[in-house]
Amino acid sequence: PATSMEELVSLCKRRGFIFQGSEIYGGLQGFYDYGPLGVELKNNIKAAWWRTNVYERDDMEGLDASIIMHRMVLRHSGHEATFSDPMVDNKKNGRRYRLDHLVKDQKEGVQAKVAELMGADPANFAALVAALNANPAQASAALKDAGVRDPFSGEVGDWTEPRPFNMMFKTTIGPVADEDSYGYLRPETAQGIFTNFKNVVDSTSRRLPFGIAQIGKAFRNEITPRNFIFRVRELEQMEIEFFCVPGTDEEWHEHWLEKRLKWWEDQGVPRSKIEILDVPKEDLAHYSKRTYDLMYDYPTLGHEEIEGIANRTDFDLGSHTKAQSELGLVAKVEENADSIAKLTIPHPETNKPVVPFVIEPSAGVDRAMLAVLAEAFTKETLENGSERIVLKLKPHLAPIKVAVIPLARNREEITSVARAIKAELQGLGLGRVLYEDSGNIGKAYRRHDEVGTPYCVTVDFDTVGKGEDPALTDTVTVRDRDTLGQERVKISELSAWIRERLR
Ligand code: ATP
Repeated sequence: PATSMEELVSLCKRRGFIFQGSEIYGGLQGFYDYGPLGVELKNNIKAAWWRTNVYERDDMEGLDASIIMHRMVLRHSGHEATFSDPMVDNKKNGRRYRLDHLVKDQKEGVQAKVAELMGADPANFAALVAALNANPAQASAALKDAGVRDPFSGEVGDWTEPRPFNMMFKTTIGPVADEDSYGYLRPETAQGIFTNFKNVVDSTSRRLPFGIAQIGKAFRNEITPRNFIFRVRELEQMEIEFFCVPGTDEEWHEHWLEKRLKWWEDQGVPRSKIEILDVPKEDLAHYSKRTYDLMYDYPTLGHEEIEGIANRTDFDLGSHTKAQSELGLVAKVEENADSIAKLTIPHPETNKPVVPFVIEPSAGVDRAMLAVLAEAFTKETLENGSERIVLKLKPHLAPIKVAVIPLARNREEITSVARAIKAELQGLGLGRVLYEDSGNIGKAYRRHDEVGTPYCVTVDFDTVGKGEDPALTDTVTVRDRDTLGQERVKISELSAWIRERLR
């Protein structure tokens, strides 16, 4: 695995996985572009998730809802009021920071000093942040007196009182800009699932329990985007809302925890690198009965959230439904006089309308990408003493499945065979197969090691009967990325050989 974020960032840029967004104009913080290999890896991760969670189950439907949503959706979901992070400004230079990031990033001792000044337990970071939020005036003074430095200037800052900063991107809709002609870019894909609950139930005749899965972009105006693609302002999520009979929610919660850990393992992210955080009661989001955060051990960053699996009770459907008072909701919801739909489903036993409980496994595609790359990244010293970097990606995730390399790029008899092999292997539908005639073969091998191509197929003079060994006619050399072993395979058997190994 990778030992630092730096080596990953450098590989990603060098080989065309990930670029800074709007780079030729100086870049835009918190936005990244996925390059030629990045788009393949990302698509493969999403396809693997969809396969496991939609195709391989019989209790799931898919959805692709729109990104811009009616402001009422985000009002009644609670996002207008509560989707915010605490922010402080440095009055000396106008720079803004997320309060918890600022305090966490200070040199040894400063955080303890802040805690002391706030009368908070220095060993409990969440409690310290809560104390800072609850006492803004005291917080401002404590940050100053403890000598909290501005990470940009390095100087001790003159800090404002912390205040909430709503992270939703707002945008105007239509040509007339009146007071109500705005919507939000969704901050999570989940809300599109809740607002379509009735549509999906009515059109599929689903009964409880069942889930709706969605993959798509979400937008968060993070105060301090950082750590490469770990915290970005335009992100992608893979979310499931699994609807179940109240009372069976805890069992389903455990079911999803196991399923999700198994899925990560199948993507090359082992269980041993993920800590399950059973989020303490006082840190739970207002809608959650219980949440498991999967904390992956990222290089340089340490354990950080890669996926959250929350029991959201009947909060979401209860918040978006009309006739709330008739439904015996468990969650505390704000009154809704705007919704025109009753979000219930018949109880499977009594047939009485019920608002189901929801288990939500929510994973970030970008954070998945980072974890998969980190795990696959391998530095090896070869027998001859040279070093190689190889991405030991699971074959189903590899951006390029096979590179077909003609040993001489100007010899028609060789290139025509190589092109025919490329076309045939491409036709297997396993993903991208590349005809690779740039540069020498050593360089091609090195490049394909670094981008994780499982097999390189080489067409040489022997293949076309012009080499030294006539027995090798109509065979090619296949090189294995991980073992570096080379094998001569008959062209007529190549498709089966590859399919067998890349399935
Ligand atoms: P964090 O505490 O790290 O800000 P969160 O608790 O706000 O994350 P959720 O709202 O639970 O995150 O979102 C579900 C998933 O979406 C996260 O587990 C993560 O994988 C992904 N995600 C959330 N925010 C970002 C972001 N700014 N950049 C990249 N991925 C994100």
